[in-house]
Amino acid sequence: MAFEARNLSDGFGRRFSYVRLSVTEVCNFRCTYCLPDGWKKTGPLSFLTPSEIANLASAFAEVGVSKIRLTGGEPSVRVDLIDVIANLSAVDGITKIAMTTNGWNLDRRVRQWRNAGLSHLNVSVDSLDRDTFHRITGHDKLPAVMAGIDEALSLDFRSVKLNAVLLKNTGEAGFDAWAEFVRQRPIAVRFIELMRTGDNADYFAANYIKGSVVTGWLTQRGWRLQPKLPDGGPAAEYAHPDYAGRIGLIAPYAAGFCDGCNRLRVTSRGKLRLCLFGEGGCDLRDLLQNAEDKSALIHRISAALAGKPAGHRLHENLPGDLKHLAELGG
Ligand code: SAM
Ligand code: SF4
Repeated sequence: MAFEARNLSDGFGRRFSYVRLSVTEVCNFRCTYCLPDGWKKTGPLSFLTPSEIANLASAFAEVGVSKIRLTGGEPSVRVDLIDVIANLSAVDGITKIAMTTNGWNLDRRVRQWRNAGLSHLNVSVDSLDRDTFHRITGHDKLPAVMAGIDEALSLDFRSVKLNAVLLKNTGEAGFDAWAEFVRQRPIAVRFIELMRTGDNADYFAANYIKGSVVTGWLTQRGWRLQPKLPDGGPAAEYAHPDYAGRIGLIAPYAAGFCDGCNRLRVTSRGKLRLCLFGEGGCDLRDLLQNAEDKSALIHRISAALAGKPAGHRLHENLPGDLKHLAELGG
């Protein structure tokens, strides 16, 4: 049965063409702001299967979603990641398959991911300084991650971008190195303001700095803000005529950040989450086993959207029920 509504929208007139799908809660890194003590098993590892993911994507595609980002935990620890990507690329209407990864096995795997249909790649690199990278992530892997990025740049991805969490002391110290990095490379590096989650209150208090240090640094040096794509992510990106790449900022604490929200999230166990910093979620999993349940799935998703809040409440120190971002993906 065909579904009437062609697009997902909420009570504030926002349209949703972009889904961030966590495919695992497991991670092999110990980033100081996320999983400083490493990932700990808290329940069965019953994450969505490649076929459940395909059914989910097919329902979303029917109502206007064209972009799916795989995230986690660390998505590339899944042994069946190729099947997940291949299944998504077979879904009519899904035209962008993106992934956010810490890059630990990028150099060995990125070609296979590209061949399976991955079109957009984001790699998290918090520092270009090897010791700082080691201290933040718990792994002395910067050379391997950078080799993987160079390999990715040779593979004709539609985009390769880097994410760096903006931290007091390490953030500003690295700006010159990042600018030098993008001078010849057509790659965007985006700083993410540190976000407060359930587990990191003390860390946040000690390490948060405002994203305006990035934009101030850029504008003083002649970088200019670029227009956004309609299904683009939350970053504001800046370009400069002397540099092949871009530098940007994701600033969830900035005024109006939620006004242009175009994304929904699904947990690795199949719960629709309306906001990263919300609470609970709408369970979709019972409708993901059979492709015939697509209409019911679309109805459930559309009904849940009516409850999407206008914005997060981070300013009131209310980060929602997320303990850390590895639970749901950034
Ligand atoms: N493991 C993958 C990775 O690190 O790229 C994907 C999941 S990770 C949760 C997604 C993004 O969220 C990464 O770029 C990470 O640096 C960022 N992140 C995690 N915790 C954060 C926090 N508290 N504040 C801001 N960004 C955070
Ligand atoms: Fe793992 Fe990504 Fe969290 Fe780092 S930010 S601990 S790589 S999930």
